[in-house]
Amino acid sequence: MKKAVIYARVSSDEQERQGFSIPAQIKLLKDYARHNNIQIVKEFTEAETAKKSGRKEFNAMVKYLKASKEVNTILVEKTDRLYRNPSDYGLIDEGKFELHFVKEHEIINDEASSHQKFIHGLKVLMAKNFIDNLREETRKGLKEKAEEGIFPNRAPYGYKNVRNERGKSIIEINPATAPFIKRAFEIYSRGNISIKDTANQLVKEGFFYRSYSPKISPGALEDILKNPFYTGMFRFRGQLMQGIHTPLVSNNLFLQVQRAFGKDNKPLYRKHTFLLGNFITCGDCGCSIVAEIKKQKYIYYHCTWAYGKDKCKNHKYYNEKELLDQLGNAVKAVQLDNACRKKLLDAIIELNNQEQNFQQESLKRLNAEAEKVRKEIHATYQDKLDGLITIDQWQAENELRQQRLISIRARIEAFDETNQKFMDDVNSILELLNDMYSKYLQVSDENKVNLLKTLLSNCTLKDGKLSWTYKKPFCYIAKKAVFENIYPGCDSNA
Ligand SMILES: [Zn+2]
Repeated sequence: MKKAVIYARVSSDEQERQGFSIPAQIKLLKDYARHNNIQIVKEFTEAETAKKSGRKEFNAMVKYLKASKEVNTILVEKTDRLYRNPSDYGLIDEGKFELHFVKEHEIINDEASSHQKFIHGLKVLMAKNFIDNLREETRKGLKEKAEEGIFPNRAPYGYKNVRNERGKSIIEINPATAPFIKRAFEIYSRGNISIKDTANQLVKEGFFYRSYSPKISPGALEDILKNPFYTGMFRFRGQLMQGIHTPLVSNNLFLQVQRAFGKDNKPLYRKHTFLLGNFITCGDCGCSIVAEIKKQKYIYYHCTWAYGKDKCKNHKYYNEKELLDQLGNAVKAVQLDNACRKKLLDAIIELNNQEQNFQQESLKRLNAEAEKVRKEIHATYQDKLDGLITIDQWQAENELRQQRLISIRARIEAFDETNQKFMDDVNSILELLNDMYSKYLQVSDENKVNLLKTLLSNCTLKDGKLSWTYKKPFCYIAKKAVFENIYPGCDSNA
């Protein structure tokens, strides 16, 4: 008998809605297991709350399965129950695990066809929301708004977004936070005070940043003091544009502050998280590529030379922008032009139709099975009436068959799976991949790196050149693959 674990999950916002509950998922999975002769050895359930995020049970399950010699199967309701984001997908290697997506009638294991794996990969991609930021920032109409002088994003600290009487979104000074901004510019403009001391001074004077955190962090303060928005301008897609909002500080004061930043020996407070930290390994010696700050403002990446500098030929220092530019090529390779997109969409429709045919077959089989059990129920009843079996025998057998019928019915009902939703999602993801490189160029460096981490793994740097591997399912979408064959291997290096 095959052994399996079951995994059920509801997110915090789903708990409010109908149709999402752990017990319903568990019941479905148990019925399925019973019907398919699978023994459930462990249950992992995750009810997320707003307070508690993270996936303790998911991680525990992966750990359990990796350690187990006899269990490698997970039963789960649907793709989006198992994965919240593509990095979860990376944790569950379909080569080692067998995944039963009960409502989707899908079993993914080593023997699954590449088309199943491909469709599965797309479903995973759609189960997460990593591209929401990207989508947000590239929403249609942003550019038009910017050209009218309206900052198309959330108002920065000191301002607020409001709707005017015609329902149009505009930006107004926020009387609660604006004094803080003015005072911060004034204090720092003196030129003899550090960012950190400016933050302290503000608190001393009773200018509180936020009620739950009165003192502003040095990084956030520096961002404010360098933001030309406060003079009535704004930056959009790298361009400085004249806004229509009311300035909070004069151009003169703003310039004084910028000069104060330029003074020597003044500590610059950046949040030194090093965007590409832990993302790249040295292609020469295999150590990590780490970052450091030179002259208090330039970020340079280099090998750690942990095995000794003589063991590595990669002695150069690279700046962040140079690396991000190179990584942009990775994005270029998975973006789709219109022709490409159409071709891929046709292929997916074709694959999905095959899938549908396959599902129709299963549905027929299930219906036939239900019919058979119904006949058996009828026949045993006759046997009881004819006195061929005792009432006790009849009761026992009848009970078993009724149970079986219930579980078959549950599986038939589960076929209501909305195929249309899948195709909608496919469309939106393809839209996103369309022209993705220009989107990459427009988003913040943080979002660039988020996107890269979603797309790539095994990023290595050798002789000044980066190479990488695409994560699933992007490897299937990598440009060349679309034209030659849509089921390539997953090792398509750039
Ligand atoms: Zn090295």
